[in-house]
Amino acid sequence: MAIMELPEQLIASLKNIPGFEEAAFKAVHESGEQITSVRLNSNKIFNIQYSILNGHQDRVPWSTQGYYLPRRPSFTLDPQFHAGAYYVQEASSMFLEQALKQTIDLEKRLKILDLCAAPGGKSTLIQSLITEDSLLVSNEVIKARVNVLAENMTKWGSGNVIVTNNDPKDFQRLEKYFDAIVVDAPCSGSGLFRKDPDAIAEWSENNVALCGQRQQRILTDVLPALKEGGVLVYSTCSYSLREDEDISEWLVMEMDLESLALELDPQWGIIETRSARCGANGYRFYPDRLKGEGFFIAAFRKKNTGGHEWRSGRANKRPDTVSQKEIDTIAPFLNRADGLFFIRQGDELIAMPDSLKQDLAVIQDALYIKKAGVKIGQVIRTDLVPDHELALSNLINPSVDRIDVDLETALQYLRKEELKIKCSGTGWHLVCYQQLPLGWVKILPNRVNNYYPSAWRILNK
Ligand code: SAM
Repeated sequence: MAIMELPEQLIASLKNIPGFEEAAFKAVHESGEQITSVRLNSNKIFNIQYSILNGHQDRVPWSTQGYYLPRRPSFTLDPQFHAGAYYVQEASSMFLEQALKQTIDLEKRLKILDLCAAPGGKSTLIQSLITEDSLLVSNEVIKARVNVLAENMTKWGSGNVIVTNNDPKDFQRLEKYFDAIVVDAPCSGSGLFRKDPDAIAEWSENNVALCGQRQQRILTDVLPALKEGGVLVYSTCSYSLREDEDISEWLVMEMDLESLALELDPQWGIIETRSARCGANGYRFYPDRLKGEGFFIAAFRKKNTGGHEWRSGRANKRPDTVSQKEIDTIAPFLNRADGLFFIRQGDELIAMPDSLKQDLAVIQDALYIKKAGVKIGQVIRTDLVPDHELALSNLINPSVDRIDVDLETALQYLRKEELKIKCSGTGWHLVCYQQLPLGWVKILPNRVNNYYPSAWRILNK
């Protein structure tokens, strides 16, 4: 393994920061050790054997559903990955679970914004933590990255998420609306150098300064959308003070937020730091001290100033109504019809929890929505052409016709190849691998039509 040349200016800038030990830090980068971790999807855990865990139970200590893998498998060739049974996520960033659990009552109905969400690591984690009647708005400003975010949220399978494609300043239309905002900011990326040594060449002090300015701009733009008493969680994968403690300091001193302390188990190896002047709390993750990559996270509360709260009733849009006949057609495909409302988008029907009706109208007025709730499909006369989103969602009725397939057939299905399945029935069937739905097929008397979405099919042989 070639010696990893970390930027000298980066090393010099870290020398007095708590927790930084130059020799150990350099050694762990030079070791090139690669850590792989996944977080299981609590929407989809049905006593399945996770083949990727390979019998190991090596837990990420600060996470309820996070596990380290003994080696990096081919996720592409694991149907459970495509079924959304888990998300491949860097272990340090799973600490967001602690930041939210320790600062917000997650049993309440909440509205949470994940502002910089693609490809969806933090959003899938937040979705697993909130109640079914809560709302997650998962936003990504860069258009080219929204599709992968929408795909990952679809695989995660829950109806209480709206994926948007907006600039942070657009959220000013939702003044004091969210109970919590997560800003996992674009940054200079030094925390990921061990995982991605090619990124080293792009690092410069100038870029750190530019990232710091951009982080302040993003936070300034989005903070009006946070309720008074609401929580902001800010994180980066940079080690630089300018992007971490200096931003915390600025949030407290200039933006008038209150810094929140988090409890740490000393065995976790996470380092608590304080900003230079006001002592704002921050939490640093160094790869030589714990099993994870470089990460920084801090939590804040917006002070109460006695101003007005978001007032509901501003949105007037009435969604197109869905007829009782259509609801009767889709009902057999759903595990419940109560507690949901249905809207039409083009030819398709969409389901969301009843509790989010007003929120959807408000968000529709203010933002560009890429995806909301779960697409159920298209009703043609008295038949439903079911959508792929329904197959992967937690709304699917377990008694819908299913075909359990072996690994080889599952991979043929995911490659959208022709399938030779023996099945006595006809019509729509869910293709399942180890009980987990992968998508739809339509069984005809003489052939099987594979409805796996072309854009998602696996190309790797
Ligand atoms: N939270 C994601 C996850 O856990 O999977 C990773 C987010 S990544 C660290 C930062 C994101 O911010 C990227 O998706 C990037 O496209 C987005 N971004 C870049 N410039 C931005 C800006 N000016 N405002 C808001 N988001 C931005």
